[in-house]
Amino acid sequence: MTTRQQAVALDDKDPLASFRARFLLPDDVIYLDGNSLGPLTKAAKERLQRVIGEEWGQGLIQSWNAAGWHVMPQTLGAKIAKLIGAKSDEVVCADGTSVNLFKLLSAALQLRPGRRVIVSDDGNFPTDLYVAQGLTKMLGGDHEFRLVGADDIPAALDQTVAVLMMTEVDYRSGRLHDMVDLTKKAHAAGALVLWDLCHSAGALPVDLNGAGADLAVGCGYKYLNGGPGAPSFLFVAERHQNHIHPAIAGWHGHAEPFAFEPGYRPADGIDRMLCSTIPVLSIAAFDAAIDVMLEADIGQIRDKSIRLFDLFVNLVETRCAEHGFQLASPRAAAERGSQVSFAHADGYAIMQALIERGVIGDFRAPNLLRFGFAPLYLRYQDIWDAVDALNDIMATETWRQEKYAVRKAVT
Ligand SMILES: *Cc1c(COP(=O)(O)O)cnc(C)c1O
Repeated sequence: MTTRQQAVALDDKDPLASFRARFLLPDDVIYLDGNSLGPLTKAAKERLQRVIGEEWGQGLIQSWNAAGWHVMPQTLGAKIAKLIGAKSDEVVCADGTSVNLFKLLSAALQLRPGRRVIVSDDGNFPTDLYVAQGLTKMLGGDHEFRLVGADDIPAALDQTVAVLMMTEVDYRSGRLHDMVDLTKKAHAAGALVLWDLCHSAGALPVDLNGAGADLAVGCGYKYLNGGPGAPSFLFVAERHQNHIHPAIAGWHGHAEPFAFEPGYRPADGIDRMLCSTIPVLSIAAFDAAIDVMLEADIGQIRDKSIRLFDLFVNLVETRCAEHGFQLASPRAAAERGSQVSFAHADGYAIMQALIERGVIGDFRAPNLLRFGFAPLYLRYQDIWDAVDALNDIMATETWRQEKYAVRKAVT
């Protein structure tokens, strides 16, 4: 069993150690929820102050041109592209993940005329499922949303399927799906694949073009530290871009937005996937945070994430052995993302007690305690201290206090 001293020694040798100083983390907090909301970078805080004070405050409307606001979806998209194995003109950043899912699912149906089935796994994130349900309902009943268990996906792919929609890393268990294999199987059936990278981008190396992926979306506010409500990004492989007629045909996806023509003409390439005026402040914060992440090596991030996970699981299973935590994530590194979940019948109250102790993870119904590992600011000693706090809460039965059973709106 690793001692605290050994954990500190691992921090001393950590090639990513210097990145922690780039974040503004509160004292006395061990943050294991970067998979839900990444923390604030110093760079984002400084950028926002400049954008508000100078670009908005002084430059006013001229900043659309002078400060390059109008090209931010593309410039930030090109940066994100480096993290996900895409070309710089295959990614834009704008709108929420759910909205981008709608745009891309509807595009996929257009790209496969005659096919009317969307396939996904039943453990997928609810908003992904809801968007597919809403879209098929809107299309009048001729379309089918086929929901199957993750292991039954290959068998569900037949000649009627237009698109397979998968989240690469399962938000509950952290299970990592095989992007190369599933993409190949979907293509063999003549279907497209839409990958949701919400729990992958910034957490592990992703190679969309290496896998031959068609479409993808991903979240800005999780591992990419873009800030609360940061816009998401979307990817369309170059070969598909000019064949899409966007379902949400907004003026920013028009070939000449400032020609103010009454008729819609899509812009060339990925730009047609834009629709609305962008949230400049949010995109500016996201852009600054991405620059920090791009300084790090994603291979080193993955390597440390695997080690943090192994240390956490090993300590919980040895030090907290008699407290009834059941590992609910794959143990093998190749089969998981950058989070771990433990099932426990009293998971909600235990997590509340842990949060009050300064160890912040989250709870996912019905019984999962979830902990995310973000290697740029987490230390091995934090993992040791977090499990120490968990063990103490269990041993002293602190979690049984009534206040910890009260459910909050956001868990
Ligand atoms: C977090 C998350 C989302 C979030 O969707 P928003 O529209 O940005 O709120 C969507 N899908 C998955 C898989 C997620 O993990």
